[in-house]
Amino acid sequence: MSEHRYELVVGLEVHVQLLTQTKLFCGCRNQFGAPPNTLTCPVCLGLPGTLPVMNQQAFQLALKAAVALNCEIAPVTKWDRKNYFYPDLPKGYQISQYDLPFSRNGYLEISDPRGRFGPKRVGIIRVHLEEDAGKSLHDETAGQADSRIDLNRAGTPLLEIVTRPDIRSPEEAKAFLTELKLLLTYLEVSDCNMQEGSLRVDANVNLHIHTPEGTVATPIVEVKNMNSFRAVERALAYEAQRQYHQWLSTGHRLGQVPKQTRGWDDQAQITRPQRQKEESSDYRYFPDPDLVPVTVSPEQIEQVRQSLGELPATIRERIQKQYGITPYDADVIVSQGRAVVEYFEKVAQVSGNGKQAANWVQRDVLRTLKERQWTMEQFPLSAEQLGQFVARIAQGRLASSRAREVFDHMLRTQQDVDTAIEALGIQTVDEDTLQELCRRLVEANPKVVQQVRQGKTKALGALVGQAKRENPNVDPRRVQEICRQLIEQAEA
Ligand code: ZN
Ligand code: MN
Repeated sequence: MSEHRYELVVGLEVHVQLLTQTKLFCGCRNQFGAPPNTLTCPVCLGLPGTLPVMNQQAFQLALKAAVALNCEIAPVTKWDRKNYFYPDLPKGYQISQYDLPFSRNGYLEISDPRGRFGPKRVGIIRVHLEEDAGKSLHDETAGQADSRIDLNRAGTPLLEIVTRPDIRSPEEAKAFLTELKLLLTYLEVSDCNMQEGSLRVDANVNLHIHTPEGTVATPIVEVKNMNSFRAVERALAYEAQRQYHQWLSTGHRLGQVPKQTRGWDDQAQITRPQRQKEESSDYRYFPDPDLVPVTVSPEQIEQVRQSLGELPATIRERIQKQYGITPYDADVIVSQGRAVVEYFEKVAQVSGNGKQAANWVQRDVLRTLKERQWTMEQFPLSAEQLGQFVARIAQGRLASSRAREVFDHMLRTQQDVDTAIEALGIQTVDEDTLQELCRRLVEANPKVVQQVRQGKTKALGALVGQAKRENPNVDPRRVQEICRQLIEQAEA
């Protein structure tokens, strides 16, 4: 078998649940986890004679998301009925948006802080608002082959986001989803909790295979049932291999044209064929006569734009510049959410050392939050306290070798750094003493100075060793820094 170069081509369809108080067209509460069928009313049960009324809060949240995704907002948008039968859809149709979605033509920029792919824009074809269906619970009681319906979710608001086929690898797909989730959680539009189904992803996948006769495209396959970002990555990687080998093994035939739907089997780590995909004409879309079109004014859009606040991409860039930290550090901090960003910024400002602040927040604070399952708000040390702690290290007054001990003590007792240092019996070395000590060492060791000037910076280790013998409380890194500076200054 000869090898062919091919490209993976992926477009995503993402559904996210909006964080509204109530459902999209009735006053029932929009809440996860309530006992089955307790959050329903005649409207979302689809009883005859009831009329839907649009939830303004849902439309506002949808506008926020679309504006943040750089979409054009339609001045007039309407509602359509998508007709199909399923037991969890009591009306026999879903209220959705067909030919006049409220927004189109946006994009989301993705990048990889590790630089595996460059910053790129993933185009967004459309974002529309629709209602969710109920939930079918199949065989959830062991040994009973029955299905039950829970209609709590019926009529809750969903945002559907459809991307252009701009994604070229499983990693890019994951980066897109991660960035989308971050954006929507920053906006408080959705909690994007995949376990609870507030974010669901389908992918349209095919290959562009480069042959000596030209480029051929394999038929598009829609992949469903991916329950985590990792599952999305794996399903796409699997599907690329499968389509390529199918193309090879069928003698370069491109296969049947009707779009195939396949489901990801997370246990077996493969995709399996599902039903034939409906064409949109099968749904017999028509405008919903019970709902009035929605108009949006330019002033309204401007107001939404003003309300967005600083978004993740902007924050990442700003904190890199403002505090001198790496793209990777900025990404880790921003991906933790607004509370962690605010905390980090305060620590950086109080300590006057962004790099060290980033290190301690990223490593020790985030690790502690994870271990204890705390939110940032529950962390017992204020940003002011941690800032002072980082300042002592940055000033060389607290040896980095003992810093962890002090941090743990502060965490336990919530004492300020100086109290903690005293309680632990650690002698701090002030800047003047440290400078004085280093000056003496540099003067007393002309050989080492000579070596350092010849580029052998390792020779500084001898000075650090002597410093530690004279005063065990000095910070080795700080001693090395000061000695190097003194030698360079003398040279100049
Ligand atoms: Zn209801
Ligand atoms: Mn949909």
